[in-house]
Amino acid sequence: MARVYNWQIGREMSYWYPESRPEKQFAAVFDVNKCIACQTCTLACKTTWTSGRGQEYMLWNNVETKPYGFYPLAWDLNLLNSLQGQEWQGNVYQGQTVFEAAPEGERVLGWRPEEEDYSYPNVGEDDCVGQIENGASLEVPHMMWFYYLARICNHCTYPACLASCPRGSIYKRPEDGIVLVDQSRCRGYQECVKGCPYKKVFFNPMTGTSEKCIACFPKIEQGIQPQCFVNCIGKIRLAGWLSKPDQANPENPLDYLVHIKKIALPLFPQFGLEPNIYYIPPVHVPTHFLKQMFGPGVDEAVKQYRNMAQDLDLAGLLALFGSTEFIVPRWKRQGDLVIGMSEKGSELIKVPLREPVYIRSAYDSKFSIARVNCP
Ligand code: SF4
Ligand code: SF4
Repeated sequence: MARVYNWQIGREMSYWYPESRPEKQFAAVFDVNKCIACQTCTLACKTTWTSGRGQEYMLWNNVETKPYGFYPLAWDLNLLNSLQGQEWQGNVYQGQTVFEAAPEGERVLGWRPEEEDYSYPNVGEDDCVGQIENGASLEVPHMMWFYYLARICNHCTYPACLASCPRGSIYKRPEDGIVLVDQSRCRGYQECVKGCPYKKVFFNPMTGTSEKCIACFPKIEQGIQPQCFVNCIGKIRLAGWLSKPDQANPENPLDYLVHIKKIALPLFPQFGLEPNIYYIPPVHVPTHFLKQMFGPGVDEAVKQYRNMAQDLDLAGLLALFGSTEFIVPRWKRQGDLVIGMSEKGSELIKVPLREPVYIRSAYDSKFSIARVNCP
């Protein structure tokens, strides 16, 4: 075991391989507040990558309703149970990661789902945590709540799938940090399925190999965001590149959201993988639940989101989400306009800070007809 630094848990930890960061790290921010669970992302991925034999049950992208939705069943609860105490002292995690808690002779603390655990991808959909009593009014945070959690592979900095593989079949690309399974090396031992705490590696019984989200790397190589990003109806997603915290550049949208504003948080940072998909937490949910899922930065993130009307830069940057299919490595706000740019500073997209509102008259004089969609 090597000692590596994991900034998300604020300390060094043990990992199977020495620290080796890619030239650039693929990363993304999902704004949970905007997801409507339309599952367009799920279908965009499914029809692109997993429509073959043996892939029927695979959802490289899925969207589950928290707290009762899971895919596979209880993926997070099972691990949270076996990981036991997960205390934080400020921003430093005091408990054990999945690498540090590995049973003797194993590389990762993991578990392998049963076939049936994959049978209910929409279990708990739209179920809220309890009944709303007669006459009860809704306050923020809500007494009764649910929210939608969209999930893909996190292309982790310290992938547990990679650490678990006895064949060395899983690798992290040095040029962009995307984690892939080498199909020609894989022998289907499924240690990666057991080891990934997010359960984002799937075994294909027809090919006898493991398969996973590839971050649509053929698109990334062309400077275009993945399928589940460009098809997102709620415009909740932004893909790009993330620097280490000490190299954060405020002109890089992801650095700004993750490192500077700290409004976008990792999913279960206590597992120890330094996952690279970041979530802006839902503002209507009690924060004690969110802290277990997104770590100790939740209160500050929620506060910033609620104050966004006063923070024009932050509000402007969120307007860039879903505005273009291109990866936007640089951005700036100029008055009422937000501009997404290439690395070299050429303009890729320009959006207004606030969408203008047009009110159409009830009568269309050009066609001499009343508009039925107007009051
Ligand atoms: S989320 Fe799972 S499959 Fe993806 S890189 Fe991390 S450990 Fe591997
Ligand atoms: S397409 Fe976007 S809004 Fe729809 S479920 Fe997926 S992440 Fe949520």
